[in-house]
Amino acid sequence: MFGIWGHEKAAELAYYGLHAQQHRGQEGAGVAVSDGEKLKPHKGLGLVNDVFKSCDFKKLNGKAAIAHVRYSTQEDKEGGVDSVQPLLFHSQTKSIAFAHSGNILNSHQLRRELEDAGSILQTSTDSEILAHLVKRSKQAKTADAIAEALQKLIGAYTFLILEEDKMYVAADPRGIRPLSIGKLGDAFVVASETSAFDIIGASFEREVLPGELIVISDKGLESIRFAMREQRKLCSMEYVYLSRPDSDLNYVNVHASRKKMGIELAKESPVEADVVTGVPDSSISAAIGYAEQSGLPYEMGIIKNRYIGRTFIQPSQELREQGVKMKLSPVRGIVEGKRVVMIDDSIVRGTTCKRIVKLLKEAGAKEVHVRIASPAITNPCFYGIDMSTKDELIAANNSIDEIREIIGADSLAFLSTEGLEHAIVKDKTIHQGICNACMTGNYPVTEHGEKEPSYFKN
Ligand code: AMP
Ligand code: SF4
Repeated sequence: MFGIWGHEKAAELAYYGLHAQQHRGQEGAGVAVSDGEKLKPHKGLGLVNDVFKSCDFKKLNGKAAIAHVRYSTQEDKEGGVDSVQPLLFHSQTKSIAFAHSGNILNSHQLRRELEDAGSILQTSTDSEILAHLVKRSKQAKTADAIAEALQKLIGAYTFLILEEDKMYVAADPRGIRPLSIGKLGDAFVVASETSAFDIIGASFEREVLPGELIVISDKGLESIRFAMREQRKLCSMEYVYLSRPDSDLNYVNVHASRKKMGIELAKESPVEADVVTGVPDSSISAAIGYAEQSGLPYEMGIIKNRYIGRTFIQPSQELREQGVKMKLSPVRGIVEGKRVVMIDDSIVRGTTCKRIVKLLKEAGAKEVHVRIASPAITNPCFYGIDMSTKDELIAANNSIDEIREIIGADSLAFLSTEGLEHAIVKDKTIHQGICNACMTGNYPVTEHGEKEPSYFKN
């Protein structure tokens, strides 16, 4: 997500901000701009460039904008362009646009309650639920209505909401999904990843705090707390895989944390070998760390065709496998006759690893030792990352040795959960915690609060 307040070229900057975060969603993109009197949307299916190609920025004039790239999970796969955010709602006097990232666990129940009360919901997105809750609120001020509505949500989310004269920014009480605030001259900017600030020359100011609702207007920035402070539970997969290496999340640089994951992995699971290589792009930092710690040379043993999108996004297993083949190639001169340590950042279904081990062996590697720079993913994610069923997770259904056998590696090891935490968390304070539920099954938030009866309490 990207938001900007107080800049003449809000829509154009939103385009750049989204472009820097294209890796967070490739299914659709959209922007809503305020010229102070009305909100104007532009959105479409596909990549940011495709969607904005047809955009006349002169018509999208205005000093404030919120923007979004769509990444859908199993829960909300269908929807087409209607589900591309921001979603725009008009009343007699005002308009309001909503964009969110993450997943609301009690959305089915809220949907039912809203429909019973007479609301007609048109999309499967959680943004629409919040919009209706806000609309039904009896609070006079929109900020109070939003705070009241957010208190009804259980889950992992960040929201950007735009009215003609205000922008609202919110993060869930655990801060599971990232969101940062920056400044560009006098303008305020907001983004899921700080890489969006760098591309437009904005400076990082601070993180949006868990349970915080920020109101931005021409008067400046006002912070409201809509929930009691909880232990921070920032998604560790953001560090492992999802975010760009040049982004900082919760004051920790993603590349630096990945490198540390590689260092920890080399300490925990060393192996006799000749060279270390990483699966581009997200595993390179960890491979550098592993090589540094183990004293083995780091080499570009695998290269990536940079014109192919992320394999994971392809819908079917068959297409995914084809995608991997097209995307990555081994460098024969480097791996031939060598004992190769192949670092990948994670294993979800096992597709990538299996293909790469095969490619390396076909290119003449004598041995392939797979080292994974995160713990085995054994549990689904309910917080907005597309790993929603146990069936699809290879580590949920097989032992480590069985996985090694399936992917055809000579040895296999995963980083421990302690190693992962050590690589991300600087000090164990309330502000620094991470979510690792997909690796441990310890979910910080559940729909009925079974594991967290203290939810919303301090
Ligand atoms: P798989 O091939 O299904 O085992 O997926 C693992 C590969 O996909 C790794 O190389 C990661 O870089 C990447 N990956 C891990 N988690 C995700 C995710 N939630 N969405 C997209 N790609 C992912
Ligand atoms: Fe991230 Fe895993 Fe937690 Fe989901 S369950 S939020 S992917 S760490």
